[in-house]
Amino acid sequence: MDFDKINKLLIGEPAFRVQQVARHIWRDLIEDWSGATTLSKELRAKLAEGCSLEIKAEVFPDKDGPSATASPEVRRAGRSAKALITLEDGLSVETVLMRHDGRNTVCVSSQIGCPLGCSFCATGQMGFKRNLSTGEIEEQVLFWARYLKKEGERLSNMVFMGMGEPFLNYDNVFAAIKALNDDNLLGIGARHISISTAGVIEGMERMAEDMPQINLAISLHAPNDELRQKLMPIAKKYPLANLMAAAEDYVGRTNRKLMFEYIMIKGVNDSDEHAKELAKLLSKRLFFVNLIAYNQTGDFVPSSPAQIKRFKDILMKGGVQALERYRFGQDIKGACGQLAGK
Ligand code: SF4
Repeated sequence: MDFDKINKLLIGEPAFRVQQVARHIWRDLIEDWSGATTLSKELRAKLAEGCSLEIKAEVFPDKDGPSATASPEVRRAGRSAKALITLEDGLSVETVLMRHDGRNTVCVSSQIGCPLGCSFCATGQMGFKRNLSTGEIEEQVLFWARYLKKEGERLSNMVFMGMGEPFLNYDNVFAAIKALNDDNLLGIGARHISISTAGVIEGMERMAEDMPQINLAISLHAPNDELRQKLMPIAKKYPLANLMAAAEDYVGRTNRKLMFEYIMIKGVNDSDEHAKELAKLLSKRLFFVNLIAYNQTGDFVPSSPAQIKRFKDILMKGGVQALERYRFGQDIKGACGQLAGK
């Protein structure tokens, strides 16, 4: 499916007609132009000939699903799935549907691969191919909206935590967000949209101006520069002092809570000392931490559940709000840091 082609085919059509097409795609979630019943037969035929609505994708449901005796909520979460979408140029992009706490959240990719090369991340290790276009970002969300419709459900949330660093593709990411947020289209509320950055300060500043209602998360993963630079090469460009000043500034400007993500890797960043250091760094302002057990993709190993709990307790004692995030889709290699186009 190619949104640019559709737009070109609609050049010269009146605005109301363009809106009708958009409603059919985004509200009715049609998969075939024959469903665009408000359009003339001629226009339907022209669109059908010029651009298919098919999204070429392979879906990998999470086989690791919970048992039949598990609670309804846990069973629902077990129906997470990953999709590998083939784009017009033959490259593939991964996107994940996560179900939890009554929400259906799509995890969206912003780039194919990632130029930032974090050492623990499967996407980072595959290198960088290119930015995704606005249409290619929207297509991932549309795919899951159609998928859920067949189950009588709707998408409720969207997180940019898939492949790539969203702030390095700012214009396309925000054009997609603005479209997906539009009440005439999918209407995903801004407060149900989250962006996760490795700490690109310019992007944080721009977002605080453009769309302060969107949730921001910073991937921190280390409480000091030395370790952070080992895990995330981008930390050399944005040392912690600068990043924390930008985080303070963001909270001051938006009055929004700011989430820090911290992947727990055994023997690397999960000691009691690290927890104390992290508590010192974050124990002010509207900050909170999400602890995520690492999903093993390479040499690193996840921290034990007991150590994660200990780490969390130290943070809480140090005055930092901390949560342990549910891990989605390990079986489908669709969890954090595991999307690698395979
Ligand atoms: S963790 Fe995020 S920023 Fe780092 S390489 Fe992976 S996708 Fe890129």
